[in-house]
Amino acid sequence: MPREMTIGEFQQLIERTYYDKDSSRGLAPSFMWFIEEVGELAQALRSGDRNELADEFSDVLAWLATMASISGIDLEDAAQKYACGCPKCGEMPCTCPEPGGHQSESSASC
Ligand SMILES: [Zn+2]
Repeated sequence: MPREMTIGEFQQLIERTYYDKDSSRGLAPSFMWFIEEVGELAQALRSGDRNELADEFSDVLAWLATMASISGIDLEDAAQKYACGCPKCGEMPCTCPEPGGHQSESSASC
C-alpha cells in the first residue's frame, strides 16, 4: 500500500473508487453523507479514541474529495490558496489579529 500521495492523487483515488456512484447520487444526498461523517468526527473528537479519530478523519477527507469532484473542484488547485501562508495577511505563521484564520480572500501567487 503506497504511503505517500498528494491531495490531488487522493481525490483521483476517491474518484476511481466512487465517482460513478457519487455522481449518480448527486450533490445534495452526498452532502448529507459528508455532514453525517463530520458528525461522527465530532463524536470521535469528544471520545478521544485514537483509532476512531483516524478512521473518522479518513471518512471526512474522502467525502470532502467527493464533494469537490461532484462540484468540479480540483483539490490540488484549491490547496494552493494556502501555499504561501495565510491568504489574508500573507504570513506563515499567520499574524492576523484574530485567532481562527482560514480567511476567504484569494491568495496572490508567491
Ligand atoms: Zn493571517
